[in-house]
Formats: sequence, structure tokens, C-alpha cells
Amino acid sequence: MTGNRTFTMVKPSAFSQGYTGQMLAMIENAGFRIKAMKKTRLSEEQAGCFYEMHRGKPFYNDLVAFMSSGPIVSAVLEKENAVESFRTFIGATDPAKAEPGTIRKLFGKNMRENAIHGSDSDESAMRESGFFFAATDLF
Ligand code: UDP
Ligand code: MG
Repeated sequence: MTGNRTFTMVKPSAFSQGYTGQMLAMIENAGFRIKAMKKTRLSEEQAGCFYEMHRGKPFYNDLVAFMSSGPIVSAVLEKENAVESFRTFIGATDPAKAEPGTIRKLFGKNMRENAIHGSDSDESAMRESGFFFAATDLF
């Protein structure tokens, strides 16, 4: 199945602003199928572990605080070429630089509170999916 799955999270800012439904509608309309989904909340420790690869960078501590600040919705999505296709669909990390019509352009506030996460590789998608879901949750 490598190549057709990615992992996403509606980040706390977008969730608290009530954008989850609109964002999920856009995602489904773009042809991504929801394989697993849940509302959850990361502890600081879990957020720190999820973003382990960024540890030591200037934005790491604020990112971890932000991602553990409130509820999120995490999901595994399926589509051909899912990782690359979803990254293009959500737009650049900085909403100010994201293409018009992308989720980050529409719902992101700033570089940190950029509405949504998308895996950056098939390996990341598998790791991140495993962070939240068991294999039996995916169907
Ligand atoms: N981030 C931030 N400041 C930065 C770069 C990134 O706050 O200068 C946050 C932002 O929420 C981003 C996350 O850290 O989505 C992970 O960064 P990455 O470079 O992996 O961007 P992404 O893959 O999410 O586009
Ligand atoms: Mg990334």
C-alpha cells in the first residue's frame, strides 16, 4: 500500500475556530478517502515525540506547546500518490506563501498555527499513522 496513504491532523487553532467540518469536506471533495479518524489531544510529551525531528530548532518548544494546547483531529487518508498530492493540496508551511484555495491559505493564521499537518514522505506517513492508530483501525 506504500504510496497511497498519508497522515493528517487538524491543528488545535483550526479545531477551536470550528473549521474541522469545512476542512474535512474539502479533503473528501479532493478525492482523499478517510481510512481512520479521531478527535484526540496530545500531551506535551506526545507532541514533543511526534515532532522529534525538529527538536533543537528555534520553533520546537512553541510548536510542542501549541500542538498540546487543545483538541486535534487526526486521520489517515488514502489516494493515489497521497503524500505529495496532499502536501500540494494543503499548501506551503507559511500560510502567507500558500497558493490561493489551499487549506493553509484559507484557514491558517501564521507559520505555526497553519491549520493542518501533512506527512512529508511515505515513511513519515507510516510512523505518524502508527502514533495514533492500530493497523486494525484502518479500513
Ligand atoms: N513551524 C513553525 N515555525 C517554523 C517552521 C515550522 O512554527 O519556522 C511549525 C508549523 O506548525 C509546521 C510544523 O512546525 O507545520 C512542522 O514544520 P515543518 O517544517 O515540518 O513544516 P510542514 O511539514 O508542516 O509543512
Ligand atoms: Mg513536516
